[in-house]
Amino acid sequence: MFDQKACKRCGACLIACPALQMTKDRARQEILRLVDREADDLVLANCAGCAYCDSICPTQSNPSELRKDILRARNRKTGVSGLRIISEDVPFNIMSAGLETEKEAKLKRLDILKHPPPASEVFYLGCALSYIYTDLAQNKLFEKLPAVGGMQYCCGAYAWHAFGEKEAQIRGRQLLAELKKTGVKSVITFCPECEDMLGHIYPSIIDGFDISTRSVTDYLWEEHQGGRLPFTQPLSDKVTFHDSCAWRKLGPRIFESPRRLLRAMGAEVVEMKHNREKTMCCGAPLIGRNSQMAAGIAEKRAREARDAGAKVVAVGCAGCFSLSGAATKQGLETYHLLELVQMAAGDKPPHRIEEIKTQLVGSVISAMTSDASLASKKYILKDGVVVGVPG
Ligand code: SF4
Ligand code: SF4
Repeated sequence: MFDQKACKRCGACLIACPALQMTKDRARQEILRLVDREADDLVLANCAGCAYCDSICPTQSNPSELRKDILRARNRKTGVSGLRIISEDVPFNIMSAGLETEKEAKLKRLDILKHPPPASEVFYLGCALSYIYTDLAQNKLFEKLPAVGGMQYCCGAYAWHAFGEKEAQIRGRQLLAELKKTGVKSVITFCPECEDMLGHIYPSIIDGFDISTRSVTDYLWEEHQGGRLPFTQPLSDKVTFHDSCAWRKLGPRIFESPRRLLRAMGAEVVEMKHNREKTMCCGAPLIGRNSQMAAGIAEKRAREARDAGAKVVAVGCAGCFSLSGAATKQGLETYHLLELVQMAAGDKPPHRIEEIKTQLVGSVISAMTSDASLASKKYILKDGVVVGVPG
């Protein structure tokens, strides 16, 4: 929650913002308008929701929550693009676009993910690894436990970010009931957003939300430490790890886990200027809203990686992979951490995540070109139900 009493209206949050980059005077004016809940289109339209400003604020007032509150109130009236809603009630969204490649095999796998056998611990794939980047979690590293996925197991981050606490509570309770049906008590998360929702947000807004979580990097580290995951093909490059914004509030332990795994794989880990709690956004949340700004943020991040002396940027979030275009321009390669683990373990992922990303972008563009209403149609969540907003 934004702490209105503690906020000194100093504007430091907006001055430091990597997206907005305001002058001191402008930032002070804008923060006054925001605190008075006046709609500020410049901030609302271009804020990536990365919460970097929370790490800058001298009074720990959580300024990112202020912008989110205003935006959620607006979204509840005007709706958001169907691309941002993970529901089978929306005919076209980012997950249905992801299914377009290798559809038959993906649907078969989805059916298995939606009907897991009873188990107290499962791999919790999240939507991106269920519908789009399916190769990342479909290999011998992940054969020891059942996996769950598909929209019925969606973490509900979209409901939380776009519509707020009430809708997130409904989604979280549905998810809890779904997990309890098969006896799940703990999950291994593959996506920083899922880790944040199940490990941090839901326990704070839903009484009795008692699913314990650990990240896939912790799981793989334990496998390695236990001698069950030898790295036979060591990485020899200088690698920098791009921390996801969603991890910012999960405490210092979460940041070390991917780094020690990279070192165990033989990489020399070098750090970007902004790392861990002070990580900077990859720009992905702004794609579609302000593509030029999204590209500028990605470019800045890629330059930090180059300046750190890295040859490879590793990401732990499929969304953050959007950095790859800017990284290529700086002469760097981008990998998902799970691709690197597969390679160091002597496995060959069937597709590079880069290839899948290119196909996804192609599917979205071609669907929108053939039907322009797919991009303009808006939806709201009302008491857990997806409702189309009349155009
Ligand atoms: S939220 Fe923090 S940084 Fe922003 S104006 Fe208030 S006190 Fe200053
Ligand atoms: S959440 Fe990120 S993009 Fe939004 S105002 Fe804060 S620093 Fe800027």
